[in-house]
Amino acid sequence: MTSNEHVTKSDARPLIEATGITKSFGDNKVLRGIDIRVPRGSVTTIIGPSGSGKTTLLRALNALDAPDGGVVRVGDVEIDFSTKPTKAVLKAYRAQSAFVFQSHNLFPHKTAIENLVEGPIVVQKRPKNEVYAEARELLERVGLGHKENAYPSQLSGGQQQRVGIARALALRPKLILFDEPTSALDPELVGEVLKVIKDLASSGWTLVVVTHELQFARQVADQVLFTDGGLVVETGPPDDVIGNPQNERTIRFLDRVL
Ligand code: ADP
Repeated sequence: MTSNEHVTKSDARPLIEATGITKSFGDNKVLRGIDIRVPRGSVTTIIGPSGSGKTTLLRALNALDAPDGGVVRVGDVEIDFSTKPTKAVLKAYRAQSAFVFQSHNLFPHKTAIENLVEGPIVVQKRPKNEVYAEARELLERVGLGHKENAYPSQLSGGQQQRVGIARALALRPKLILFDEPTSALDPELVGEVLKVIKDLASSGWTLVVVTHELQFARQVADQVLFTDGGLVVETGPPDDVIGNPQNERTIRFLDRVL
């Protein structure tokens, strides 16, 4: 399955558009007016120092935490946060994207396949047979077809995270948001998770990935956003932003981490 089946051909707008996103926690102005556009079938990576608001931005894009201001649109559903959105609009908005967390958040008492089918059956009310068949395909896709009956505690961290990605796919979202999907993993397990994300990227999924893995960010992205101090300081193709940064703050950050 690719994201292509969800594409409305007549809609040439970016799949995601956010404008003027602001968010404070108390006096801490974490997002100071962020704009982001993500075309369908493209990969955006978000990089930047710790505490620069990357996770907060990702959660705002999913309306997991409502921003204080700004407008977000995914597909045909738009929310202007200057007024409080209704529950129905929030639900319709959120249903379009799936979130992959830093650590997988699998249900510990459910097997791999039970973790995948829960959302589609219970929340989306889709037919069980179809959901189980698709879940098996998805576990195959992330290389875990042989682990469908394993519990999370019987899987390595990398395998758990791959189940987490398959679970996101099982919801048939239009896009997937990844929040530092490899940062909780031992170094030797990072590669297998990045490989799965690269596979999704090359099969046409729309992805937004917050990551510290700069080599990966460069390889996989169509667009890189560098955030600092609650702003997008530099954005563009990876060969520009990571390969040949122009902004002083991007240059300093990359000097420190590369
Ligand atoms: P990053 O992902 O770039 O490391 P975050 O978005 O996680 O940055 O955090 C940005 C800032 O917002 C930090 O100063 C963090 O302490 C603060 N912050 C994030 N979430 C919360 C929260 N739920 N309550 C209070 N402060 C928060």
